[in-house]
Amino acid sequence: MTASAQTFSRRVLDWFDVHGRKDLPWQQDATPYRVWVSEIMLQQTQVATVIPYYSRFTARFPDVCALADAPIDDVLHLWSGLGYYARARNLHKAAQQVRDVHGGRFPETFEAVAALPGVGRSTAGAILSLSLGQHHPILDGNVKRVLARCHAEAGWPGQTAVLKRLWALSERLTPSARTRDFNQAMMDLGATVCRRTRPACGACPVQTDCLAAAQGDPSAYPGKKPRKALPVRQVQMLLVSDPVGQVLLEQRPPSGIWGGLWGLPELARDADPVAWVRERFGQSVHACPELPTRRHTFSHFHLDITPRQILLPQPGLLALEGPDCVWYNPAQPDARGLAAPVSRLLDENSVLQTEVSP
Ligand code: SF4
Repeated sequence: MTASAQTFSRRVLDWFDVHGRKDLPWQQDATPYRVWVSEIMLQQTQVATVIPYYSRFTARFPDVCALADAPIDDVLHLWSGLGYYARARNLHKAAQQVRDVHGGRFPETFEAVAALPGVGRSTAGAILSLSLGQHHPILDGNVKRVLARCHAEAGWPGQTAVLKRLWALSERLTPSARTRDFNQAMMDLGATVCRRTRPACGACPVQTDCLAAAQGDPSAYPGKKPRKALPVRQVQMLLVSDPVGQVLLEQRPPSGIWGGLWGLPELARDADPVAWVRERFGQSVHACPELPTRRHTFSHFHLDITPRQILLPQPGLLALEGPDCVWYNPAQPDARGLAAPVSRLLDENSVLQTEVSP
């Protein structure tokens, strides 16, 4: 390790000893399993949001076999609201791989951990360094920001060449002693001091090494992703209620948006819901009032959702129920993974129905 790398890591570790986070739930009893769950939840999600989800998740699935043996619906239910559901599906798949390939013991080599679904190089390094103290560099979003600023790396980290340079920096700066604390410190530094906007350079232990701070505009680093206008998709979501207030839910296909979660039947924006009810239920409805359109934004498109309320005049629809389709009682919700907008729509629908009922 070069002298400058040694100075850098010493400054970061001295700062960690005083200011680092040491009481996060996954830092207690920091087994590879518990750290793995936290690392997956923390991808694209803030610590404060993750904490209650993490506590519920690890209480229900205290070890990797409990997670592997659980129905995917239970896993998605506990993930409901966290978003990016592919993470939950991968977590479940990876737990089954640990159970079936590694005899239920979470692997402890970099290659085996990095081979689990949903685990990339940085996550594998974080799991093994934070739980077992192994020497692996990491490069999550926070670390990328600190390194890009310190070294005035102006490119967008989504580009392979830029990413390669940032990895080389992380490898060079990560010490083999106290790797666990150093990695945690770099993540903490990015989250609490070298924030995306308004970094607190005056409180930063590496300010004297930082080229972006010297240039006077740290927020110019790292380079931004070239902007592209997101396409807009439009859809109708049908809130189909039977006469006793149950709502029809359908399970979504396992992959794609909200994969495996339960949602509302969907129709193209210009399709006729009255005709859909006649065809599907053999019943006639005269109107399907629209609720205001709302936008849900995914990383790659906007989804404009127009909800339609449909009150079926007759019950007797049990034949419709099956593995992918269920009549759901919003007043007595069961353990079922619902996409966040669907959950909000069910609440809104219940309130509206209460308001119109005599
Ligand atoms: S000096 Fe400022 S920009 Fe540089 S690493 Fe520290 S907080 Fe980030």
